[in-house]
This record gives sequence, structure tokens and C-alpha cells, in this order.
Amino acid sequence: MIDDTHDGRRQSWVASANGHGEFPLQNLPFGVFSPPGSAVGGGDPRGGIAIGDMILDLRATCDAGLFSGEAARAARAASGPVLNPLMALGAGARRALRRQVFALLAADGDGRARAEPLADRLLYPAAACSLHLPVRIGNFTDFFAGIHHARNGGRRRDPNNPLSPNYKYVPVAYHSRASSVREAGVPVRRPNGQRKLPDEAAPTFGPCRKLDYELELAIWVGPGNRQGEPIPIGRAAEHIFGIGLVNDWSARDIQQWESQPLGPFLGKSFQSTVSPWIVTPEALEPFRIAQPPRPAGDPAPLPYLMDGEDQRHGALDIALESFILTPQMRERGQPPSRISHSNTTDLYWTPAQLVAHHTCNGCNLEAGDLFGTGTISGPDEAGWASLSEQSMDGTRRLTLSSGETRTFLEDGDEAIFRAHCRRDGFAQIGLGECRARVVAATG
Ligand code: MN
Repeated sequence: MIDDTHDGRRQSWVASANGHGEFPLQNLPFGVFSPPGSAVGGGDPRGGIAIGDMILDLRATCDAGLFSGEAARAARAASGPVLNPLMALGAGARRALRRQVFALLAADGDGRARAEPLADRLLYPAAACSLHLPVRIGNFTDFFAGIHHARNGGRRRDPNNPLSPNYKYVPVAYHSRASSVREAGVPVRRPNGQRKLPDEAAPTFGPCRKLDYELELAIWVGPGNRQGEPIPIGRAAEHIFGIGLVNDWSARDIQQWESQPLGPFLGKSFQSTVSPWIVTPEALEPFRIAQPPRPAGDPAPLPYLMDGEDQRHGALDIALESFILTPQMRERGQPPSRISHSNTTDLYWTPAQLVAHHTCNGCNLEAGDLFGTGTISGPDEAGWASLSEQSMDGTRRLTLSSGETRTFLEDGDEAIFRAHCRRDGFAQIGLGECRARVVAATG
């Protein structure tokens, strides 16, 4: 399904798109934005597509009559304050829109002559726009599919058997909180809660002392399924609208005390941060790869999670990085300090397996549901994508590029995630940053 929209030689007449590390012509991710001049924080949010340093206004482009057929229907569905109506339409409409947007924005596209004269009305500098949470999220499910992260966490519990006995059979997950998901840039307030460290006799109430980030892939659900009608693994990919990044902020001291025996609750539900752009399966097509073979001795997935096509092409090759920017670095104009680099190949399950498993009991997914994959850590220290792993639950201090040290996040620290897809012969694309700053707890 590689086509001319993936050709790395194609350029855009939007100059900043050419060679752009995140949003070249070949990416075209969806988001929701307010153009400059709108009322602060309010205005009139509508769907847009990132192209270089600019945003294409889908409503204005639609109003100008530049789309036809299924693409016009898709653009109209993306003209409101959330992308849910577009997400519900499915892959056909999304692909039609991609093809027509490509034709409008390509330097040699057959729509250029109609679009370029209207550029002032259709395109805005992204830096002058406000980006919003692009989706009304009905449900947020957080998986645990990063096997190295699962093993690192389990080692503290039982060094000899770090993975629970179900891990290689069940794509483990818990239901997380949809109402507190926010877009990148919204500060995260350090939560208060009941905390008890292992060496303390009794819990106390107060600000979290082990505030952590978790670098995860966000999977956005497209068309849902009827309750009672599972999505078979072979059709699961059709139900994925796109991907982004999610920071599953975690208050480890609250989480460790409260999670016995029902799992995470207030240690997670205070806030989660998503990157503002959603990259489509079409843009990711060149970066699909075979699911890495399971190590010898691991069980094969049960039949409802096994599909030949999914095993051959259902995994993604996306390089992931986490960084911390401290107040001192900000003041001195220093770059953020890289903490980890890993890859989506470190996931034990494919996105399609997560969809098939989630619905195998008849549970209904809805357009706009959000999945987190679980923290995607690499096999060794350089890839550990949370601070609890990096600091071994606070027992050793990391040294940052500025010379400062950390165990967990301090007030004023910013967690920054980046993700890029690279393959010879194709334009590099990125998911856009997922970043937010920690602010002090309320007294
Ligand atoms: Mn998580």
C-alpha cells in the first residue's frame, strides 16, 4: 500500500515542509487548533493538518470547495472542535482526504493552482495557533505491552520471576481515566495523596515524593464495534485511526501503596498528557515491520491473537526518546537532557493484538477511545523510559547533561518525548513532541 504519497522525492510548495523532521508532505497528521486572533484559550477550534511549520485549516479548505467526494465528507467531519466524527468514518474517507490534501500541497500536485492563491486563508503558522486536545475521549485503556518495563518493575517484587505468569498470554491492561487527559503544554500539578514508603510504619497525606513519567505510544481508535461483537484480529487494523505519544504520569509512592490488590488508581488519574497530532496508518505505512520473533521458549499467542498478516507487517519501527528540561537548563538556554532512547519494536504485542484482545469479551470500543501501550523501555539502561527504572525506584541518582541530578521529577521540570520514523528511500516523519511541566502541589 506504498503509493506516491510516500515518495520521499516529492516536495511541497509550503517551503518549511521540505526536509522538516516531523511534518513533511509525506506525513499529514491531524490535530485540532484555533487560528491566531481567536479569543485566548477559546476561539473557534477546528481540525487541521500539520505541514512543515504551518497548519492547513480543514474547515476553510472545505468551505473554499477544494475537496470533492469522500474527501469532502471527511474534511467536513474534521471541521468541528473534535475529530471524533472523522475518526468514526473509517479508513476509506481518511485515505481519500490524504490523497486530495497531498494533491493540494505538493509542488507538482494537480491541486496546487487552486490552493496556493488562497494560502493566506488556508494556512496559518503553527507557532501562532493554539493546539487543543483533538478528541473527546470516551475511554482510556492503558496496556502493559513494553516487556522490558514490565520486567524492570517486576524485578523489585520478585527478582527471580519478574513477569507475572499471565504476561506472555494476556495483553495486560487497566482502565485509566479519560476525563483528565490533556494536550501537551498543559502543566501537570504534583498530586497530593496517601503515601507510604516501604520503610515507613504508616501512611501520611501530602504531595507525591516520587513523581514519574512513562513514555508510551498512544493508539487512537477509529470506528468502534457493537457491544457483544468482538473485532477479529484480522480486521483490527481497520479500527485504528492513528497514533501519537502519551505521558502516563505516575505518582509512584501513591501507586505503590494503593495498588494492592486492584491496581493503579489515584497514582495515575490526576493527569495524562497526549501529543497534539495524530499520525495516520497511511503515513506509517513505510515504517511497518514484522513483529520481532518471540524468544525461544515463549508461548505462541493464542489463536484469537494470531494473524499471519499482522505478524508480518503489524509492528512499527518508531525511534522514541525521553528528555528532562530543568528550570536551570531553561534559564541558561541549555538543551534538554536525554534520558532514554528505545523503539516500538520493544513492544511484546502489536496494536492489532491490543484491539482484538480488548474486544474479545464483547466490550465495545468507540471512535475516539485512547489506548496507551504501556511504557516502552529498551532492553538495557539506555532504553529505560521511566525514572523509576532509571533511578531504581529512587535508590540511585541520575546525572543530567547540566550536571544536575535527579531521582524523580522536581517542580519546574519538564518531561519531553519525541518519536521519529526513518527508513532509507523515504522522508523522515515524526509524531510531534509530547511535553509538559510539573508545577507545585496545592497546599
Ligand atoms: Mn502506563
